[in-house]
Amino acid sequence: MNMITNHMPTAELQALDAAHHIHPFSTQDEIANKGVRVITRASGVTLTDSEGCEILDAMAGLWCVNLGYGRDELADVAARQMRELPYYNTFFQTTHVPAIALAAKLAELAPGDLNHVFYAGSGSEANDTNMRMVRTYWAQKGKPEKKIIISRKNAYHGSTMAGASLGGMTPMHEQGGLPIPDVHHIDQPHWYEEGGDMSREEFGLQRAQELEKAILELGEDKIAAFIGEPIQGAGGVVIPPSTYWPEIQRICDKYEILLIADEVICGFGRTGNWFGSQTMGIKPHIMTIAKGLSSGYAPIGGSIVCDEVVEVIGACEFNHGYTYSGHPVAAAVALENLRILEEEGIVDKVREETGPYLKEKWEALEDHPLVGEARVEGLMGTIALTPNKETRAPFAGDSGTVGYICREFCFANNLVMRHVGDRMIISPPLVISKAEIDTLVERATMALDLTFARIKEDGLY
Ligand code: PMP
Repeated sequence: MNMITNHMPTAELQALDAAHHIHPFSTQDEIANKGVRVITRASGVTLTDSEGCEILDAMAGLWCVNLGYGRDELADVAARQMRELPYYNTFFQTTHVPAIALAAKLAELAPGDLNHVFYAGSGSEANDTNMRMVRTYWAQKGKPEKKIIISRKNAYHGSTMAGASLGGMTPMHEQGGLPIPDVHHIDQPHWYEEGGDMSREEFGLQRAQELEKAILELGEDKIAAFIGEPIQGAGGVVIPPSTYWPEIQRICDKYEILLIADEVICGFGRTGNWFGSQTMGIKPHIMTIAKGLSSGYAPIGGSIVCDEVVEVIGACEFNHGYTYSGHPVAAAVALENLRILEEEGIVDKVREETGPYLKEKWEALEDHPLVGEARVEGLMGTIALTPNKETRAPFAGDSGTVGYICREFCFANNLVMRHVGDRMIISPPLVISKAEIDTLVERATMALDLTFARIKEDGLY
């Protein structure tokens, strides 16, 4: 077989891809018929594809390239670490310097007494760890019947059996016999779609109180933990009403339920603080981390765990671990990523400069005839497309038809913006400049105009 390189014609790369590569969350037939976009290189916030198109990546890959593409420092650290110690494990009473240094740095950055790190290769694996860890915690405390984990509908916590079970995505549960036992889902704090005539605040409180109802119905003595993303990401960037998290915290405290904040998207500056828990005022016992931890340059995730949980589980052998727990190259890359985020003041810049700038520009999209709401927290944004701004009505027909049309117009205009149903979402690299934010919003506006014209032509509006 010939060498497969960036210089091959796109059609040949697409044909080979269709023949041999199974894509996540994709329909293989559709991919084969349409052909995939082949990304060949990237720098800053810009991707280049095999046709030479330069595309503004308003999703930072999959919400992960917080530092932007093309940082040589990370490549240099990876090469150095591979030469020095490419691999060693952290099982059986051994460790290595990158794992130590990264854990110490994470303990410094994480709030309160979140002082301990269990490493994983991804966010999904970390949530598997969390599920076993909280159950082990209660078993160690003589309460093995405290097993149920309460989560929310439309949450995303990963694709492994535990991750997808903790998540609340019905299409995922329908494949593979999920959720696994002892996971319970309550309703989400999605005011725009489910709030009816209530005020945001009233609705936020009501949805949080579903946790208390579930605890009382299922039995306080059966509940191990509650898990939630500070802001739901894959569910459509659902920014909860201000009343929601304080009430969840009150309920977790009252019933002594462990609180797990899934920071896989919200962590490492996305909301203008190091962690989304700080933005939302939550005090979790465990935080799930991945993605922005290494800005996606190396696969690494983990759980940052509080003193008390570690004291309890530390008394037993926790029969759990991954070959790549604390992988030295990934840990060294993550540490360098954190150094740059900190030294360049990138998180502060999101909070004080680029976040407020994006907010002003993005929220102005509410003037567009198709947009029912446009919201931003830090550098995550969402817009809801609607045929009726007053009633917040969804489009007739299948959810996602109009969102997909808009996504395709974005792509055609060199902007990666994702759609979740008929909602458009963004999560650009945290290094995005104000000028790049202007370009992002211009391209998004163009895609909205084109979508509006198309759906009127097609009789969808
Ligand atoms: N939790 C959240 C909140 C996520 O958004 C994701 C990934 N999108 C995960 C967990 C799973 O992470 P991974 O894909 O690294 O397994």
